[in-house]
Amino acid sequence: MADESTASASSRLVVLAGPTAVGKGTVAAVIRDDHPEVWISVSVTTRAARPGEVDGVHYHFVSDEEFDAMIAHDELLEWAVVHKAARYGTPRRPVEQALAAGRPALLEIDLQGARQVKVNMPEALFVFLTPPSWDELVRRLVGRGTEDERERERRLETARVELAAESEFDITIVNREVHAAATELVALMKAPLRA
Ligand code: 5GP
Repeated sequence: MADESTASASSRLVVLAGPTAVGKGTVAAVIRDDHPEVWISVSVTTRAARPGEVDGVHYHFVSDEEFDAMIAHDELLEWAVVHKAARYGTPRRPVEQALAAGRPALLEIDLQGARQVKVNMPEALFVFLTPPSWDELVRRLVGRGTEDERERERRLETARVELAAESEFDITIVNREVHAAATELVALMKAPLRA
């Protein structure tokens, strides 16, 4: 146990949040490909897999009953209903194991989840990813083409509220270009910890 606490003190938990469609998932995907030294949490979700998504890689796709059981057994560090549609959560144990192993760890989660982590693990670094402009955010949401019109409207409404939360975060990264944003984030993850 002594080893574990020493290791966790030298590794950093970074929580990346930001408005819907800002590109959090894309930034995380670039880090997954280019920075294998960074551990990225795989969330559980009750939503269905999209084409190309792999169970256990992009998410653990679970039933409502499985999600309920994880809550009941206190297996989630945080969880939230996102876009009023499905539940998403961060399995607690893998995060603890990554930090104990001394790996920089990244959670890419929504704002409600980030607030819960702030209560449970206030020593984490909270990073807000923001678009260069509101118009750019709308363009990205429409361009992604994975949601129908009503769903897009709902997500934009959520995004408007989420943008206002920037001041709750330690640091803001503007996502002008995905590789630049990823590089900036990884540099933060490896920076010496605050006293
Ligand atoms: P999508 O369904 O497009 O993959 O993700 C929708 C939203 O769910 C994104 O804003 C993403 O950050 C958020 N999300 C993904 N995993 C988690 C999680 O484990 N916890 C929370 N609170 N939000 C998550």
